[in-house]
Amino acid sequence: MTAPERRRASAPPIPRPGVASDAALDDLRRRLYIGISVLGIGIQAAMWILNLHRDAPDPVTTYTNPLFTVLSSWVIWWMARRRPVEIVNWVGLSACGLVIILRAVITPLMGGADLTTSLQDLYWLLVIVSIIAFLTVDYRRAMLVTAGFYVSGTLLPWGVLLLDGATLSAPARLAQGQLLCGIVLITLCSLAWYREHFQRGREELQLTQRLASTDALTGLHNRHALYPLIEAVLHADHGEASGTEGRSGNLRGSLLLIDIDHFKRINDRLGHNVGDDVLRLVAVTLKHHLRGDDIVGRWGGEEYLVALPGVTYQDALVVAERLRHGVQRSGYPAGVDVTISVGLTELRGGDTLRGSVARADTALYEAKRQGRNRVQHVQDTPPVPAQGWPTTASGD
Ligand code: GH3
Ligand code: MG
Ligand code: MG
Repeated sequence: MTAPERRRASAPPIPRPGVASDAALDDLRRRLYIGISVLGIGIQAAMWILNLHRDAPDPVTTYTNPLFTVLSSWVIWWMARRRPVEIVNWVGLSACGLVIILRAVITPLMGGADLTTSLQDLYWLLVIVSIIAFLTVDYRRAMLVTAGFYVSGTLLPWGVLLLDGATLSAPARLAQGQLLCGIVLITLCSLAWYREHFQRGREELQLTQRLASTDALTGLHNRHALYPLIEAVLHADHGEASGTEGRSGNLRGSLLLIDIDHFKRINDRLGHNVGDDVLRLVAVTLKHHLRGDDIVGRWGGEEYLVALPGVTYQDALVVAERLRHGVQRSGYPAGVDVTISVGLTELRGGDTLRGSVARADTALYEAKRQGRNRVQHVQDTPPVPAQGWPTTASGD
């Protein structure tokens, strides 16, 4: 295996923003369903055994718990085979609905001294099923499910009692339980409605703002977002406010303008998809070699801009070299060798960000002119080309 092949073999997969997280989320959801089903089987079996030891076993528990055990085993199988989750949601909710209706009809028919208490159990079940509905299906359907189950669970027992001519020892207590359950369910529905209309709206706005300031290909800040961000950070570093727009006043730190060498050849030889993978991997490598408070963004095409708050140009040179070596050593798809050229400048008092970027761009141009794969810096403001360009690194 050649050195570039070894590098490629050990290279991490190229991240594609959004894709990996969806798969991970789906995986987590399936594991959660399996975990809950296993737990459910244990609890249902225990309840079933305890019920059989009662003086008067509850027939609903006797017959529905084994059914639920079978259903839970089916959910485990279904999830493990990576079948659609939505079907499990609806089968589960339908089974819960069936139990609610059976309980609402059979419990009053059975009569008995603890009828009110038995019926009150039904309302706990209603609250639990409603929570499950809000967690698993969209909020409109969950509201319909909640309302349907509540109306059935409330009216059916009274209807059965009336038709059966039975008397209830404590009707007020039953009505109280039903009202309390209604209040809990209304609270749940209100919270879901609030989340849907207000919180989600705010989250969507934040997402839109984030997308507007993020480069879709690399996940880095885009050019539009970089200027205000860099100005804020370079000022914040010294706790000073910006002066007039575009004036840096007391900006402190260094800028690196980075350009991938001969990137067009990569596109031409291997296609734009490989080119895009290279752009993504360079972005990951740059981020990996920078500190948390440094800023890196995609300046455009195959160019990146890095701001190093509070860093003098001597230290920035070290960082720039680290980035250059890091990019060169990363493993790239299709055997590509990737190098970068870096233009570096330090910001000084009275400097402007726009002017500093232009200076870094001039340094970058010089790095290209001198043969690429190198860091070139401008130490003073304004640059004095007559004194020559201090070359700090030549290509490996
Ligand atoms: P140099 O070393 O002088 O910088 O040469 P270069 O080939 O890197 O520079 P040039 O400006 O000639 O070509 C840059 C190429 O980058 C041209 C453009 O098609 C390509 N490019 C810009 N944005 C993207 C992108 O998002 N994806 C891909 N795959 N290519 C891009
Ligand atoms: Mg370029
Ligand atoms: Mg280039």
